[in-house]
Amino acid sequence: MRPTSLRDHPCDLPAARNGHTPHVKIVIIGSGFAGLGLAIHLREAGIEDFVILERAEDVGGTWEANTYPGCQCDIPSHLYSFSFALNPNWTRTYPRQAEIWDYLRELSGQHEIGPHIRFGHELEAAAWEEDAQRWRVESSRGTWTAQLLVDGTGGLSHPSIPALPGLKTFPGTMFHSAQWDHDYDLCGKRVAVIGTGASAIQFVPRIQQRVGKLHVFQRTAPWVLPHPDRPTTRVERLLYRKAPFVQKLVRTAVYWNKESFVPGLVKDQRLLRPVMQIGRLHLRRQVRDPQLRRKLTPQFDLFCKRILLSNDWYPTLQKPNVELVTDAVREIRGNAIVCADGSEREVDTIIFGTGFRVTDPPTLELVRGRDGRTLLERAAGCGVQAYLGTTITGMPNLFKFTGPNTALGHNSMVFMIESQIAYIMDALRVMDERGVTSFDVRREVQARFNERLQAKMPGTVWMSGCASWYLDADGRNVTIWPDFTFKYRHRTRRFDTRAYELRSGVSGPLPATAQAAPA
Ligand SMILES: Cc1cc2nc3c(=O)[nH]c(=O)nc-3n(C[C@H](O)[C@H](O)[C@H](O)COP(=O)(O)OP(=O)(O)OC[C@H]3O[C@@H](n4cnc5c(N)ncnc54)[C@H](O)[C@@H]3O)c2cc1C
Repeated sequence: MRPTSLRDHPCDLPAARNGHTPHVKIVIIGSGFAGLGLAIHLREAGIEDFVILERAEDVGGTWEANTYPGCQCDIPSHLYSFSFALNPNWTRTYPRQAEIWDYLRELSGQHEIGPHIRFGHELEAAAWEEDAQRWRVESSRGTWTAQLLVDGTGGLSHPSIPALPGLKTFPGTMFHSAQWDHDYDLCGKRVAVIGTGASAIQFVPRIQQRVGKLHVFQRTAPWVLPHPDRPTTRVERLLYRKAPFVQKLVRTAVYWNKESFVPGLVKDQRLLRPVMQIGRLHLRRQVRDPQLRRKLTPQFDLFCKRILLSNDWYPTLQKPNVELVTDAVREIRGNAIVCADGSEREVDTIIFGTGFRVTDPPTLELVRGRDGRTLLERAAGCGVQAYLGTTITGMPNLFKFTGPNTALGHNSMVFMIESQIAYIMDALRVMDERGVTSFDVRREVQARFNERLQAKMPGTVWMSGCASWYLDADGRNVTIWPDFTFKYRHRTRRFDTRAYELRSGVSGPLPATAQAAPA
């Protein structure tokens, strides 16, 4: 197969041409923080032989898709950005969606990533070809082969909509918060919002004034803390532009402040009590009605589910056109939402604030490894497992960004993504230096890594009894990293060859080192 340069891939053509399937060194799926961050590092290392397949029509990932009113990051601006591209111009201390999206688009432009991206290409299948030691990657608009495949499809990019009986026959308009219908006028409408998670508490206060009636369906009351967001001042922005080290200091301080929660999360939840007290006071101060307050009082430990920041959630729920419904939704009948207690609410619109398919994203069914089985088939019985949340046994030359147990409830995901970028870049260096054509993480290394990880789970706040999207169908925490993030950074600073079976195209398996494989 003739390796094909990028110049052979005009953006608007299907990949296969003249019977040849184009070959690149790396196919990256997704152009969010992960895909873009890696692309920037590849180009800086002089690697141009890669292509990014992106199903959307622009870069940005989460921040391109989630355009719902009020969408905002709940990590401070100075930390929710790449360490190599600090932005002195953030206009708020917590960045809003549009500003993060602009940040990522600007980075893509500055680093000339555009020519590498194929927009409108949705991954449909990827299979490892053992003989050729490469991946065959099929998108909705073309096929590539590649030595390496990088899954940057994101943990929160596939909306989850509950399978409510009767939903398909609902005659009104419905959409998910991550697919906001901006052409639909909510003015005067009877609207149901299902879910009271991170997105709903941001958009409900923004739409309340426009709609006629708003029914908010809550399954469990979330912990809501006061939002410390404020506009940044001109003096601050000038200071960060003139003295970047000051912004680095602020970023470092924010990072360590976030890490200081870890002992409370993983060891002793009593350490979280002062923060719980802040949440209780916030509720007491903003909600006077004892009955409503009872409905809004969380019945689980702080951080067991994602904590939320808002100053206008509780006040909005007390507006005359808003009703908080705490009975479970049983079915949709015509244009009525029917609850478990038999009560009905007629609505014109349903907005789902029901989150994402975190533990069972559709991409698990699209990627087939060495034995022809998909990631989902391999996960049967033991859940999705990976080594360092990044490489998966039986899936040679595959890197997965934000894979199992790399998500965070207390700190910035960009920190984890940058750790993974470093790991991938080091792997590329090792492969180059040692003539490695493929790597596959050793089964026993991955098993031991996951055993140790799961052994840390009992006693953590995420296992303290609440139902959350951090847990899979069997109640295992396959989502959250249960430790300090700097430990993850340390583990991923080098591509640890002893954890892998390495092959060279010419001579087959490379000799195993004398050392034992690491945990
Ligand atoms: C509403 C919201 C708020 C959030 N707030 C925070 C926060 O406060 N702090 C925090 O740390 N994190 C937050 N996150 C998590 C956020 O997703 C990560 O911080 C980060 O943006 C993940 O980047 P990514 O590149 O890994 O994934 P994404 O940004 O999700 O990008 C994945 C990309 O892959 C593309 N893609 C997916 N499937 C396919 C396919 N089959 N074929 C082709 N392309 C595909 C998508 O279109 C997307 O562009 C939030 C997420 C959401 C949804």
